[in-house]
Amino acid sequence: MENRLYKLTRPEVEEYLKENNIVLLPVGATEQHGKHMAIDTDAYTALEMSKRVAEKTGVLVAPLMSYGYSPHHMNFKGSVTLTFQTLVNVLKDVCKSLIHHGFEKIVIMNAHGGNTNPIKQALREIDDETGKRVYSVMVYPMPNGFGAEGTKVIEQERGGHACELETSVGMELGHRILIDKAEKWTPEHSSINPKHKGKVTAAYNFDESTSIGSLGDPTLASKEKGKILVESAVKDLAEFIEDLKRL
Ligand SMILES: [Zn+2]
Repeated sequence: MENRLYKLTRPEVEEYLKENNIVLLPVGATEQHGKHMAIDTDAYTALEMSKRVAEKTGVLVAPLMSYGYSPHHMNFKGSVTLTFQTLVNVLKDVCKSLIHHGFEKIVIMNAHGGNTNPIKQALREIDDETGKRVYSVMVYPMPNGFGAEGTKVIEQERGGHACELETSVGMELGHRILIDKAEKWTPEHSSINPKHKGKVTAAYNFDESTSIGSLGDPTLASKEKGKILVESAVKDLAEFIEDLKRL
């Protein structure tokens, strides 16, 4: 079955809506990913993970939103950011259009941590304005999120961007990766002491913590690890979608 909403004809969409009301909305980012990963890494991951979850659960995937909220990456070439309010507005417009047609259950498949706050704001406003609940999930496997089991293969001490995890996932998903250019990151002078991590908020720019553009150790990445990571996250995400069907 064709799972991409944007490849269906209008009558096929009508057919789908007779039986189903779930749609996945992949949301990525267009931003630098160190010296070895492509600018479209998060966008590509959002779409590829969504397609895999859709295949497992029989739900549809809406067109990818490639641009996200990445002001903290703007000191690196190639990054493009929407303003906070633009992303909120685009998310609202897209979700409200989908809701209008009967997609009662929308799941934002987010692949970029920087999108978290604009997404939260959009979900709040959509709920207030339509009474409809939109969900958002992180598609990258996370120790405290979907795919937690898979993250046990990760060896690096710290990561977070174009790191062992993201590079491994990229290898499994078929991203363009120049692995011979991958460099291990060593915490730089202005980066925050890890013991304060998660406790302090400030508008940091990425280049304050890393001059190479990545955080973590992508030299530890492998396709084998990527397969375990991706399968673990897809399994957990598919379970969530199945539960959502019963709601
Ligand atoms: Zn990324």
